Amino acid sequence: MQNIKRIFLTIIVFLFSINLLYSQRNIQTREYLDTTNAVFQDIYQLWKNYGDDMWSNNFFGTNIDTKKYWAESEIEKYGDGCNLHQLFAPNYFIFAEFFIGINKRNDTLYELQTSFHSNYTVTYDLCYVITVPVIKTKDGYKFTNEFSLNKKNLKKKKIDFVEFYYPKDYSLNKKRIKKTINKVELFAKDMGIKEIKPIKYYLQNTYTDILFSFGITTDLGDYCVADKINKGGRAYYQARLMTYTKGGENNIHEFIHILINDIRNNNNYYFFDEGVCSYFGDHIFLPYSFQVKKLKDFLNNNPKVNLSQDLTTAYKILNNEYTSDTIGQENNMKGWMTGDSINYSYIIMATICDIAFRQGGYDKVKKMIIDAKDGEEMYGVIEKHLGIKREDVDKYIRDFLNNTY
Ligand SMILES: [Zn+2]
Repeated sequence: MQNIKRIFLTIIVFLFSINLLYSQRNIQTREYLDTTNAVFQDIYQLWKNYGDDMWSNNFFGTNIDTKKYWAESEIEKYGDGCNLHQLFAPNYFIFAEFFIGINKRNDTLYELQTSFHSNYTVTYDLCYVITVPVIKTKDGYKFTNEFSLNKKNLKKKKIDFVEFYYPKDYSLNKKRIKKTINKVELFAKDMGIKEIKPIKYYLQNTYTDILFSFGITTDLGDYCVADKINKGGRAYYQARLMTYTKGGENNIHEFIHILINDIRNNNNYYFFDEGVCSYFGDHIFLPYSFQVKKLKDFLNNNPKVNLSQDLTTAYKILNNEYTSDTIGQENNMKGWMTGDSINYSYIIMATICDIAFRQGGYDKVKKMIIDAKDGEEMYGVIEKHLGIKREDVDKYIRDFLNNTY
């Protein structure tokens, strides 16, 4: 997952959970829309019900009847993961929604457009604008994915277990792909996965192009950094679909996300996954061997950061400010909010994976993947598998980094 977005979402989800007891899903339609129109009412109602269902599923664990909302073709292709917007706009339905409208494209195709806003920050008010194709079927209106409509214009190539999709002007680096696939196969073998089930892999020239092809018209995670090309990848394991910007042929991070899902055999995600993907793979297109040195320097420059207090946000204090003992962007956690190439919390998890691998190889890492937990509970997992008590975690990680890298 890409870092800027993740940090933003973490902050929002945190703020949101505080307000959960007092708030409800908030959806408004634009003024001057003809809401009495029959087509509008049918499609709008379908969309609203779907959002309400996702909201209750997320917070109260209720079931969603996917067939009620999604076209059969999408369910066939992506199963439970047929809502591909979640790839770039995970849990968008928790935000306040402002519904823009519906447009007719032809006799059977419509498009709805909607937007999501956060009520908690002033500067980043708009989070996403999403465009969703809607088709008219014999069972009424159903959602489909922009990607499914666009796919026919893409080039397609199958190499081993991977089905590649890329635009006509993209030059696929087949040599690199062969190497990457070998790495993935080796990792799978070492983790005891006998056969890798097919994975769809979409490559695009720019991050903005990827977003567009999934119907994300505007995304806060894009247009963040003015002087760097936005690079990144995502995996949506429910759909066995992954995507990378140009050059992604080198990376195995997103592949590992899908394989972790196969190891765990359910749809859970834990933050430890990012560590496994960054350790055996890469983080923001750079290897662990590079990122771990940055983490070492960061921790040495910031002795107040206490990893026994919190593994992922130890450096964060209230009001979204970050502790930093030294002045200067390089050592300031805010640095990576504005485009540094590293998300330290990913590499802290990767270091834990590193320690596990040195202690007990793939077998130990696999057991930790299966047992992984988020937040405070992760200390229990670390003590159980690595024999490090919570109060010793900070010193242990610091000593390990200084003695090893
Ligand atoms: Zn990731």
